[in-house]
Amino acid sequence: MSSSSLPIPFNRPGYTGREIAYMQEAMQSGHLSGDGAFTKRCHAFLEERYACKKALLTSSCTDALEMAAILCRIAPGDEVIAPSFSFVTSVNAFVLHGARPVFADIRPDTLNLDETQVEALITKKTRAIVAVHYAGVGCEMDALMDLARRYQLPLIEDNAHGLDGKYRGRYLGTFGSLATQSFHETKNITSGEGGALLINDASLAERAEIIREKGTDRSRFFRGQVDKYSWVDVGSSFLPSELTAAFLYAQLEALDSIQRRRKALWLRYHDGLRDWAEKSGVGLPCVPEHCEQTYHMFYLLMPSLETRQAFIAHLKEQGIQAVFHYLPLHLSVMGKEFGGQEGACPVTEDVSDRLVRLPFYSDMTPAEQERVINAILQFN
Ligand SMILES: *Cc1c(COP(=O)(O)O)cnc(C)c1O
Repeated sequence: MSSSSLPIPFNRPGYTGREIAYMQEAMQSGHLSGDGAFTKRCHAFLEERYACKKALLTSSCTDALEMAAILCRIAPGDEVIAPSFSFVTSVNAFVLHGARPVFADIRPDTLNLDETQVEALITKKTRAIVAVHYAGVGCEMDALMDLARRYQLPLIEDNAHGLDGKYRGRYLGTFGSLATQSFHETKNITSGEGGALLINDASLAERAEIIREKGTDRSRFFRGQVDKYSWVDVGSSFLPSELTAAFLYAQLEALDSIQRRRKALWLRYHDGLRDWAEKSGVGLPCVPEHCEQTYHMFYLLMPSLETRQAFIAHLKEQGIQAVFHYLPLHLSVMGKEFGGQEGACPVTEDVSDRLVRLPFYSDMTPAEQERVINAILQFN
């Protein structure tokens, strides 16, 4: 097969070249379980770069979200406000602890939680607000932080797309009481599966360590602060092994170069598709002036569901994989059980039908990208 006909996947994990050496180092150290030297290096990296009170690696963003639910003491009957346009676990982590999700719609420009709709959804039962920085473009944090302060509600940033992005010059993940990161294979920085909880509210730090270590005060024990460790709270095993942390550290070290490559790819798509998009009535991503995005994805907003499906089929014929997401959470099987109804989040419902994501990964070659662009330019 010539390279011009090789399939172009939607995503392909990129490697920095140091992963194996670090994993070998972890093996030779004799410490394979969690919280060894590489986990500490990852924690230090995140705490220094993002100036958060504490960073804790987890096995996934989903796990970090569940830790957030436990830290917020979510209990049956509580309500959590979240955008309907997001990944399942932004909401499921809270539902698992008895919360009823209250779905908010998104802004039609950035596709982020519509901050103007949140206040009307707050009730006496509201216990948290979840904000997702879609595509690594910051939500309107000034308005959301103001609401969180006025109603004394924890704001949780699901920052799975937003590592290293900024809102008005400040890093995403440093606004809310808590923020969650993902290092899943499809994210900018990966360890296959992986995540982190960033803790900005210092009063939550000690309990977070306990929840992550099966409800024990083992972290204090390892620091020599107590002479034995025991069961002191609820928790689970949320920490990843040193092999995962070693792999992740290699990726974190290369964050700047990975982001540079992704930026170049994103700008090339934008340049190459701008005229075509305008002629074809296709929407391009919106990045407001005051937001520094993370170049997590490149999406298009097609004119209709029919053109979106025809577009995906057109690319597929040329061996190019484009995908869509998210299905509105309020219209899912679970969402309907919580009262979700057609028409409740009209922007989410509309965008969900029309959005398509182009192949986008750090190691994408210029030739691959030109093939995608040329294939798109042939679509009318
Ligand atoms: C990927 C993703 C998650 C889940 O991340 P995992 O690490 O796979 O658990 C949660 N929220 C959003 C917005 C995501 O994109």
